[in-house]
Amino acid sequence: MKIVLIGIQGAGKSTQGQLLEEKLGVPYLSSGHIFRNMAKEKTPTGRMLKETLNSGSLVSDDLTIEVILEYLKKPEYANGYILDGFPRTEVQAETFNGGVDKVIFLDVSDREALWRISGRVSDREDETLQAIRKRIELFHEWTMPVLNYYQGKDKLIKIDGEQTVEQVFADICKGLEV
Ligand code: AMP
Repeated sequence: MKIVLIGIQGAGKSTQGQLLEEKLGVPYLSSGHIFRNMAKEKTPTGRMLKETLNSGSLVSDDLTIEVILEYLKKPEYANGYILDGFPRTEVQAETFNGGVDKVIFLDVSDREALWRISGRVSDREDETLQAIRKRIELFHEWTMPVLNYYQGKDKLIKIDGEQTVEQVFADICKGLEV
């Protein structure tokens, strides 16, 4: 099963992604995690990514598509995946056509997300308040159209992400019929 998780930072994507990984036996993968690792490399691309990530901006569609599609060619993803953070723009979604069975939108208000993030300890350099606000702003601008795109393809499952972790997970499983 090829699942995509969409939601603003703090919506619970990685928590739910890991629960789904356990339940479905398909690997969880985060595009942000891939980029954070690449940003550690002492190369021009690594340095550029570090700057992009720390500012909260999006990586270009071209580079994102190249990196993620290459990554998904690994044999461990042949039977499916739970993808967090990609696609994040309409161009990415259109290019990724065929790579998605169901899209789960974890709906959490900006206020609730900021509240959750402010209460957790992070050692991530890209988790400054400014970068988080920028990411949320870009979500509304660039990722909301992706939700409409998948709604039009009848692949979207909208979940109230402001419930407990257990309730959210139960709703996801119900939506996926698993
Ligand atoms: P995340 O951990 O999903 O919040 O991603 C962290 C950062 O990685 C984002 O702020 C972007 O700079 C970059 N990133 C991750 N996924 C994508 C994507 N699909 N398109 C563009 N940039 C991305």
